[in-house]
Amino acid sequence: MSDDLPIAEKRASILERMAGAAKRAGRADRPVLVAVSKVQPDVRIKDMLAAGQKTFGENRVQEAQKRWGETFAAHRDEIELRLIGPLQTNKTEDAVRLFDVIETLDREKLAKALVKAAEKVGRMPRLLVQVNTGQEDQKAGIAPQDVEAFLALLKAEYDIIPEGLMCIPPVDEAASPHFWLLKKLADEHGLKTVSMGMSGDFETAIELGATHVRVGSALFGARDYD
Ligand SMILES: *Cc1c(COP(=O)(O)O)cnc(C)c1O
Repeated sequence: MSDDLPIAEKRASILERMAGAAKRAGRADRPVLVAVSKVQPDVRIKDMLAAGQKTFGENRVQEAQKRWGETFAAHRDEIELRLIGPLQTNKTEDAVRLFDVIETLDREKLAKALVKAAEKVGRMPRLLVQVNTGQEDQKAGIAPQDVEAFLALLKAEYDIIPEGLMCIPPVDEAASPHFWLLKKLADEHGLKTVSMGMSGDFETAIELGATHVRVGSALFGARDYD
């Protein structure tokens, strides 16, 4: 994707490719485009909002607080804000205040902290469980074979019923088997939301059942740093 196209055109083109993928898969529903705004300059966020984008994903709580609690606070109520990066337990309360959805529930300790924060703040974001489909040591997430037990634990101990699952496949492997597995796990457990697919593979993810794709660089242009 050319980097010099206006944001609105980039977005229109991504939405068109998403619709094409959904059609190829014979899907009647409409996958949601999550605009990953991490480290993007304000002017690009402004253009994205002006283009009509309503769903945004952020990796870091502090960066998201600054962007959506200060710079673009006037727009906060019009958009859905999703945390897609790892959440430290000491940031849980801030995250519960700020986000509509937290996609990265990946351990019991965090579930406990979320419940405590939700009691204090008086709201609980919708939650997805992150699955480490590639079983990578350095990556967060519940191993596929532990998903069932983790869901049972969440329900029994914390009264948490997640809305769905998310994954970030290993960078050095074909993504399709990971997408296929995540969708299968979601179906097995009756979970409706499946967050998978990024700039390089969102069409494949949609063909394999993604309800939400998280697209950053293909939508906003390259990030200066990560
Ligand atoms: C950065 C990021 C994305 C978007 O990546 P792009 O390749 O720029 O589309 C999606 N999901 C997560 C979890 C990310 O950290």
